[in-house]
Amino acid sequence: MARVEALVIGGGATGAGVARDLALRGVEVLLLERGDFCNGASGGNHGMLHSGARYAVKDPGSAADCASESRVLRRIAPYCIEDCGGVFVSLPEDDPTYPDRFERACKSTGVVYSPLTVQEARGIEPELSPEIRSAFSVNDASLDPFALVLGNMESARDAGAKVLNYKSIQSFKVGRGSIDEVIFRDAVTGEADKVKPEVVVNAAGAWAGELAAMARVKLEVQVDKGTMVVIDGRHTRGLVNRLRSPTNGDIVVPNHSSTIIGTTSAPMSRPGPACATKEDVQELSQQATRICPSLAKGRAVRAYAGIRALSPAATGRDASRGYQVVEHSRQGVDNLVSILGGKLTTYRLMAEKTADLACLTLGSTRSGRTAQAPLCEDEGEPHLEGSLQMYSRRIWRKYGPGREKVLAACAQRSRGTEVVCSCEQVLLGELEHFAAHPDVRTLSDLTRRTRAGMGYCQSGMCALQALSSLASRTEQDPKRMLEEFLSERWKGLSPVLEGDQLRQEVLKRYLLTGTYHLSIREGGC
Ligand SMILES: Cc1cc2nc3c(=O)[nH]c(=O)nc-3n(C[C@H](O)[C@H](O)[C@H](O)COP(=O)(O)OP(=O)(O)OC[C@H]3O[C@@H](n4cnc5c(N)ncnc54)[C@H](O)[C@@H]3O)c2cc1C
Repeated sequence: MARVEALVIGGGATGAGVARDLALRGVEVLLLERGDFCNGASGGNHGMLHSGARYAVKDPGSAADCASESRVLRRIAPYCIEDCGGVFVSLPEDDPTYPDRFERACKSTGVVYSPLTVQEARGIEPELSPEIRSAFSVNDASLDPFALVLGNMESARDAGAKVLNYKSIQSFKVGRGSIDEVIFRDAVTGEADKVKPEVVVNAAGAWAGELAAMARVKLEVQVDKGTMVVIDGRHTRGLVNRLRSPTNGDIVVPNHSSTIIGTTSAPMSRPGPACATKEDVQELSQQATRICPSLAKGRAVRAYAGIRALSPAATGRDASRGYQVVEHSRQGVDNLVSILGGKLTTYRLMAEKTADLACLTLGSTRSGRTAQAPLCEDEGEPHLEGSLQMYSRRIWRKYGPGREKVLAACAQRSRGTEVVCSCEQVLLGELEHFAAHPDVRTLSDLTRRTRAGMGYCQSGMCALQALSSLASRTEQDPKRMLEEFLSERWKGLSPVLEGDQLRQEVLKRYLLTGTYHLSIREGGC
């Protein structure tokens, strides 16, 4: 049976961060994720790099962490951050005492802010409601969570870590005071395997309590669902937040070719699949159009949900967005460390604290380097010949540490620079590169990496091209692969189907399901 120094469970931002941190300290690491990377909250969030302002009044500890970590991330992972800034604005119905409290709280937590007149705010964001009463500018930014997590995985691998997706932890064999063996299964083939770790890091997000239970220790986790709506096109220049205590529909985030509206907060009794509902979409759209009325004219192309793992002290909006590193030796298991809560923005800090504790268990005194070590060296954009030059900046920003290989695939393959997803401007070379990658097993995996199919046609025009790139490399039935993919996309489409998006979907049905006699499951989660 294979032995490893550290086993990290969970392939979200936190797990990826822990694997990278430990690998950079010279620890032998294996990371196992039961789905594709970003299967949990790391693939179901707004992609907001928090300045800390959102939490300054209610959750100052979390605000201070966000303020300092957002500076670190700008330094180590600039490729996946769009530094577009943000504004906080209030409306006549909002608490008039909040702006003063907000300003005092930003000052005391180190959140960078600047008061704006209404005119200045509308100069920065022309689409803001004419009704806004007060405004501040802050250092929020837009962050691509997939690029961040995959960049961390790539960098962890470069540092020697073994990182595997589609490996689901089934059980632990607990001996005298420690986990002796971990049994896992390939989620696609069903094949079982075992590993003998010296230390186990539980970074399973909302599922962390289930993992702890496998080791017969208790870890309380509050599970909370949040929904987001994707509107086609960019409706604001930067991020727009409502200047009030966080509630539903008060965040607008420009992201690649779209605008994301978020979010809701609904406690769940246990972690499970989370889907957006029509009611969520209606509420989010109503609230967001109060701050940016032009969003009402935008076309909702998709809705999605993520689940948060919150500290058990309170529920929903009242729960802190801070994090907790739990060492389970007091409960009788010496080599298990769990990490819970936090934000995408603070993943690196959380990972560092967790790795510190894991190293203590291993008897290693090496300290972490992730606050200094960039995810990829910034040698500036490459100068390329021909049509690739036009696309290079986008590819450079999208893929971080893996960008050289993607660019090479586009340059070397025949038709590599042909655009195959016109909504998201994805090149055939990008699809072909990732289709050949051992991590990619499904069309959804290909979408997560390249963004093909994420635009307004929701894969109507590029699904067959993606299929032909992937199908030749797998033994799976291509028709089933396409049906699975379209059934998965349906979950995000069904809550927004009206007007132009409904017409678009009807066209897609004629093009794909009609021609190829596909059967699509029209269920929710
Ligand atoms: C609606 C919403 C909006 C948010 N918006 C923002 C934002 O804009 N900015 C921000 O900074 N933060 C945001 N967050 C918070 C942020 O998304 C999370 O803090 C972060 O993604 C958590 O990452 P994680 O790795 O800890 O958990 P996850 O990403 O949930 O990862 C846990 C992983 O463990 C895996 N796993 C579970 N069980 C097993 C098993 N048995 N075997 C193997 N693997 C397993 C899961 O498949 C999953 O991939 C938001 C969260 C939500 C829910």
